Amino acid sequence: MLRQIAEKIVQAQRTVVFVGAGVSTESGIPDFRSPGGIWTRFDPEEFTYQNFLASERARERYWQLGREIYALIKAAQPNAAHLAIAEMERMGLLDCLITQNIDGLHFKAGNTPEKVIEIHGTVMYVLCLTCRKRYSRDEIELRLAAGEKVPRCDECGGLLKPATVAFGQPMPERETAEAFRRSAASDLFICIGSSLVVHPAAQLPVVAKDNGAFLVIINRDPTTCDSIADVVHRGLAGPAMEEIMRYVKEMKP
Ligand SMILES: [Zn+2]
Repeated sequence: MLRQIAEKIVQAQRTVVFVGAGVSTESGIPDFRSPGGIWTRFDPEEFTYQNFLASERARERYWQLGREIYALIKAAQPNAAHLAIAEMERMGLLDCLITQNIDGLHFKAGNTPEKVIEIHGTVMYVLCLTCRKRYSRDEIELRLAAGEKVPRCDECGGLLKPATVAFGQPMPERETAEAFRRSAASDLFICIGSSLVVHPAAQLPVVAKDNGAFLVIINRDPTTCDSIADVVHRGLAGPAMEEIMRYVKEMKP
């Protein structure tokens, strides 16, 4: 079955890879949208976009949580799945990568920004909500470590917020539209490490399939799209992608 997926990758003209939290958890980063870990000490209901806008106290808590998450992410390393997807790009076998993950590990693995659509944003940057000035997360981290509780924009005084999509915050329009466009145009769509439940994860494979793509699902657990997929591989992302790329390199040295 993994060999068949490799054949499809070699034959396809426009392969879109879509990844979810399962790929990050294999690098030791917990799934922030599932219960457990950090959410035993932080209530997800509290960390909505609406609360962030509403009070200074909520913003202070948001940045406390953000610092914990960022420390975890900064220490994490890409796993075999990240490396395999970066290898696909180097071999010219990747139209684009759509990721729900905010950890930037695809870039550590070697993917380039032109190929990656981050539909839930990224922890690697901080944005001013007023003038949209972009700061590096490391720069803001230094300010927080020096004692700032709620950082403000040095240009306009506006609120700064990590460039991630918070609970209740609208999805980024450009990235979301691009994700749908590329999915519809793909002839091979590979979902890795997502149970395909939240929007737009549940819709992208359907859009790809409706427009004629061969649909592959690689996930440890059943997903909402298994019934429409051409191939379903039940297993961890890293080992599966490593083996697939071994076959790909045999076929296309
Ligand atoms: Zn600003």
